Amino acid sequence: MNILVINCGSSSIKYQLIDVANNTVLIAGIVERIGKPNSQHKLQLRQNNGQMLKHTHTELTKNHRDAFEIVQKVLFNNSKNLEITGIGHRVVHGGERFQQPTVIDAKVLDVIDDLSILAPLHNPMNLIGIEVCLKLFPKLPQVAIFDTAFHQSMPDYAYRYAVPENWYSDYQVRRYGFHGTSHAYVAKQAANYLNIPLNNLNLISLHLGNGASVTAIQNGESIDTSMGMTPLEGLIMGTRCGDLDPAIPFYIADVSTANNEDIISQLNRQSGLKGLCGDNDMREVLRMAEEGNHRAKLALESYCYRIKKYIGAYFAILGNIDAMIFTAGIGENSATIRAKICHQLTNLSIELDMEKNLNISDKISEIQQSSAQCKILVIKTNEELEIAQQTKVCIQNLNRNKLNQ
Ligand code: ADP
Repeated sequence: MNILVINCGSSSIKYQLIDVANNTVLIAGIVERIGKPNSQHKLQLRQNNGQMLKHTHTELTKNHRDAFEIVQKVLFNNSKNLEITGIGHRVVHGGERFQQPTVIDAKVLDVIDDLSILAPLHNPMNLIGIEVCLKLFPKLPQVAIFDTAFHQSMPDYAYRYAVPENWYSDYQVRRYGFHGTSHAYVAKQAANYLNIPLNNLNLISLHLGNGASVTAIQNGESIDTSMGMTPLEGLIMGTRCGDLDPAIPFYIADVSTANNEDIISQLNRQSGLKGLCGDNDMREVLRMAEEGNHRAKLALESYCYRIKKYIGAYFAILGNIDAMIFTAGIGENSATIRAKICHQLTNLSIELDMEKNLNISDKISEIQQSSAQCKILVIKTNEELEIAQQTKVCIQNLNRNKLNQ
């Protein structure tokens, strides 16, 4: 069973064809800089010997439809013997309406469109991808997988903000949380690895990439997460501020020439690590700090301090945890950041083994001291695989329901 996974953004389309029987990527590609004169297509094709062969082509793409036609051609030329069973689309915001992977029909498209008010940068792009694919692949079932869905299990006292009631009832203001596909994937991986049923597992999952969020997982379900109504809340990120006194944007509007649009853009694109030290790439921040740059040192201290505060808070609400998970670019690759975060958390049974922290394997590594109660795991996230697996289950249920009718 082969599933095509699509992640459609404003200027790029990422896609993978995944054999979900044995979790193998058969084809992976990205069409970048769509609509620009220098748009290009990077492609990897699995060979008979198991190796991935890489190609890069310059392609003229006026719009997303052109880009998807390139993807369609690649699939046609390279997967003649491979049946494609269905398509899984990443959709950023599912609001309160979507708690599960959902087979796409006209009604679902309308609701995703309505939810664009909550994710104006993302949902419209995801929708373009779905609409083009429905035209290009009309016979295939297509499924929407929402970044917010995993967090729909949060209790109301965790997702409500203490604001006037009608902000929630009329305008849908509440915590939704994001990175759900990644948190769900690493939680399942941890359950497999620890050989404990997921519904018996308490976890703190740290997704530390360019965007970053932490989730408290109780008995396999998200009960709180650091991102909010939008991905701006919570941890310090590459360019996003994370938690902030809500009066600050109004104050900046009063004392500077910035308007609403400027302020939200600065909070999303010029803040976080970049705001604190001028660079959003953690490798660069670490290098600058190593050279003694004070702003970079401050950025690192603030970054890890914010994470520690969330770990403490999530310990308090979970009671006990089986494992803390590090994932995504920084979580998977930076021993320095992991060590800084775990420093002096022995009261919470978090005791890092410095040696193990430096020797990380390709998939899952256990890096706590052997006597420690709480496991510390480094798990490589794989959102595409999780989308493919969820799409598979959704299509199997669809087919079963059709048979029973
Ligand atoms: P995205 O959210 O864009 O998917 P990633 O999960 O790829 O982001 O994470 C990107 C971040 O990971 C960047 O800040 C990058 O500097 C950081 N990163 C990648 N490799 C390393 C490394 N070896 N050490 C420290 N940071 C790293």
